[in-house]
Amino acid sequence: MTRKKLIAGNWKMNLTLSEAMDLAEELVRRIGSVTDVDTAIAPNFTVLYPISEIISKSNIKLSGQNLHEEQKGAFTGETSAKMLTAVGAQMVIIGHSERRKIYGEGDVLINRKITAALAEGLVPIVCVGEDLSQREAGRAEDIVKAQVEGAFSGMDAKTISRTVLAYEPVWAIGTGKTATPDQAQDMHRCIRELLLNSYDKNVANNMRILYGGSVTPDNAHGLMTQPDIDGALVGGASLKADSFEGIVKYQAGA
Ligand code: PEP
Repeated sequence: MTRKKLIAGNWKMNLTLSEAMDLAEELVRRIGSVTDVDTAIAPNFTVLYPISEIISKSNIKLSGQNLHEEQKGAFTGETSAKMLTAVGAQMVIIGHSERRKIYGEGDVLINRKITAALAEGLVPIVCVGEDLSQREAGRAEDIVKAQVEGAFSGMDAKTISRTVLAYEPVWAIGTGKTATPDQAQDMHRCIRELLLNSYDKNVANNMRILYGGSVTPDNAHGLMTQPDIDGALVGGASLKADSFEGIVKYQAGA
């Protein structure tokens, strides 16, 4: 079975309209026709539509960084799944550790957001990962397993197979401390085993599990060539066209 790699850039709360448009144009030039891996970018909500127009004729997909779990209504400051698809988004990041930690999002809410995204045809990129104290206490696998089970609670195998997982150890996000390829592979294998035991072989074999946490062009090859790592969710290095290109083209860095 082959799982096509997905390299997704999370721009977070960075880049004004003109900066974002410049970066998107540069990315179209550099990686817009790449087909051996899937690529996606998740710009801030305010620039989704112009970026959608810029990348529309390229292979780069558009992702939201978050969404609200309800379809519409009196939720000041929030964005629905339908609003994302209306501007061309095909994916949405859900449960990023910054949302969990800063905004207190938990598994029940994340589960509802996944349902809302799938109902509109968005591919959720569901983030899980332990923090440093949990890893040091030897609880990393239990924490990640509980997050995966919580995110997918009540969903059947067919539903789950429409999602992407991203394992992002919190201690590696934006810190420059990357998990070693072996550390990351161990957790990815553990997640795949969980999918096999809790759901079925198809889900386990076909689910793309991305790694995220200080991925750069220098470490991408080592990580991406692990058997259970199916791509990367990239923060800081996605804000520069050359470094994102270097990760997308990690095979050249062999
Ligand atoms: C992220 O925030 O998802 C992330 C992986 O960030 P960075 O690549 O900067 O560690």
